[in-house]
Amino acid sequence: MIIVMGVSGTGKTTVGQLLAIALAIPFYDADDFHPESNIKKLSGGEPLTDQDRQPWLETLGEKIKIWEAKGGAVLACSALKEKYRSTLSTIPHEKLTIIHLSGSFDLISSRLALRRDHFLDPSILKSQFNDLERPNNAIEVSIDQTPENILQEILIKMSSKTEFGIIGMGVMGQNLAINMANNKVKLSVFNRHVADKEEGVAKDFVAKHPALNIQGFDDLPEFVDSMAPPRNILLMVQAGAAVDAIIAELTPLLGPDDLIIDGGNSNYLDTNRRDQALAMHDINFIGTGISGGEEGARKGPSIMPGGSKTAYNRIAPFLENIAAKDANGKACCTYVGPEGSGHFIKMVHNGIEYAEMQLLAEVYELMRNGLGMQPEEIAKTLEHWKTKGLDSYLLEITINILRKEENGELLLDKILDVASQKGTGGWSTEAAIRLGSPLNTIADAVMARNISAQKETRIAANGLYGQIKQPIAQDRESFISALMEGYSAARIVNHAVGFDMMKEASNQYNWDLDFSEISRIWTNGCIIRSELMSAMVNFFKDTDQLLFHPAVVKSLSEQQANLAQIVGRAVTSGYPVPVFSSAMNFFLGYVNGQSSANMLQAQRDYFGAHTYKRVDKPLTESFHTEWV
Ligand code: NAP
Repeated sequence: MIIVMGVSGTGKTTVGQLLAIALAIPFYDADDFHPESNIKKLSGGEPLTDQDRQPWLETLGEKIKIWEAKGGAVLACSALKEKYRSTLSTIPHEKLTIIHLSGSFDLISSRLALRRDHFLDPSILKSQFNDLERPNNAIEVSIDQTPENILQEILIKMSSKTEFGIIGMGVMGQNLAINMANNKVKLSVFNRHVADKEEGVAKDFVAKHPALNIQGFDDLPEFVDSMAPPRNILLMVQAGAAVDAIIAELTPLLGPDDLIIDGGNSNYLDTNRRDQALAMHDINFIGTGISGGEEGARKGPSIMPGGSKTAYNRIAPFLENIAAKDANGKACCTYVGPEGSGHFIKMVHNGIEYAEMQLLAEVYELMRNGLGMQPEEIAKTLEHWKTKGLDSYLLEITINILRKEENGELLLDKILDVASQKGTGGWSTEAAIRLGSPLNTIADAVMARNISAQKETRIAANGLYGQIKQPIAQDRESFISALMEGYSAARIVNHAVGFDMMKEASNQYNWDLDFSEISRIWTNGCIIRSELMSAMVNFFKDTDQLLFHPAVVKSLSEQQANLAQIVGRAVTSGYPVPVFSSAMNFFLGYVNGQSSANMLQAQRDYFGAHTYKRVDKPLTESFHTEWV
């Protein structure tokens, strides 16, 4: 016996009828059993009281006993409160399945507005949402999908098969599994078996979280078999060879329409290659960036899927449910574009992140060593910056780091000043060279890490050249104020650099990227969420070049002199500020209508007969000069 419940407008009748046909049992609509007095009230837009409902629910409870004895039925009934459901539960609980169709108020009210065939006044919806007590023991299904897909999800959830699989129970895999299971997804998880090293990892994880009802495997065919086709399998393993190895093992086990989602930080070129290779086996492939680290994975990451649009539509409810939500409650997950576009934008996201982190490190160095400020003073100053439009997750964690003590001393002072770079940061720089895109701030942030890694050389060179760093001799307050303006300018430039490269990739690869949507899914859940990113959602509705937006032109015009001032002061006082100066140089190069590249072209033609174009002749013509 099945009850399909939910507020008015969730499609209980449509879905209930489809379910009854699929299970070959009768369908009943609880509304057909209302006494005349209730129908009159409802038609007049008057909500029913619990007293009105009681005899109706009791009648239904009696019917349920009869229907169950005859072989079962599907009953569509709102059953919003626990006590209503308890009146309906006249048969043993293992014989009764409750399916809760759930959706947002906005979605349901927009659907109700289109309905004219029902006696229930849509104005009652608000009171229904207030009354709704979400059942603990029900199968919950989102209505933000077609009735056919809702039916499919219900049938999977009623069977012992699962609807989603995750491979790789590392940090990200485990936290995403918890997030999905908390969102009522029926899940299988797998981790490889490595004798004496990695044994029973998935089963141990499942045993640690019994309430989540997840199935754990270390045998790949059993894992695949536990899922209902078409299967959706998320890989959360190390990028590179591990992804190829697991895809090679999975491919012969999968059928047409099955889907592999690579959620690791894979190189977009690998994703392009895998997309083509899997298409030959009729297996769908999605490469998705997932940002937010461990906490994001568990509570709501930003998700950037690229690849097959049809496959995305199928798994959108899963991904959008677990994603972070933006300021309007919309999921920080959107279809990015074909092929490796999802992994490409994740790579750029991480590149922007590298430079944002480096800028804050440079601010810290100038304040701590240049101005001699104490960590708490710096934290307070940065807290003030948060109120000046500069709020961001990275600024927030920097403030917390400046206050973290160990045994009464600042922990930061105990941390070795060596940062490595691997994967996405370096790949962004390689991509910039491949695409012919200027990526100044991001490339310089990568190089700053490379220099930091040469600790021994730095110490030796410091011994040779002596102490170059000097106190920044200037009025402290005015320097801090210029630093704030310069920081704001450098951040805008850094974001422009990253988004300009995405624009170039979109043009060259025909990806049709939507920069407003990309900014939107980066407003929450991810590491580079910030007030600036939220503003960019609107900027990119007006232009696809950030530095051309009138609001940006105004800010940068006002701030660029401060950026120049602090770069000048920092460098002449002996402090390296690679990303501040890179932002300055990018900006000056970007606004330079007449560059010095005419000299480069002359030199190239001089020694290599490379030819040049002339400003006084059509650009279709090339010229060569015998220089001597
Ligand atoms: P992790 O904790 O090191 O876990 C890696 C997982 O990959 C483990 O389950 C590991 O299994 C499995 N694995 C490694 N080599 C394998 C192979 N050859 N075959 C099968 N499985 C293999 O890594 P993570 O932090 O969860 O990261 C996973 C992916 O997400 C990476 O691409 C990472 O860049 C990306 N990512 C991470 C973060 C983050 O903050 N951590 C954020 C965004 C994206 P064993 O346990 O058996 O070794």
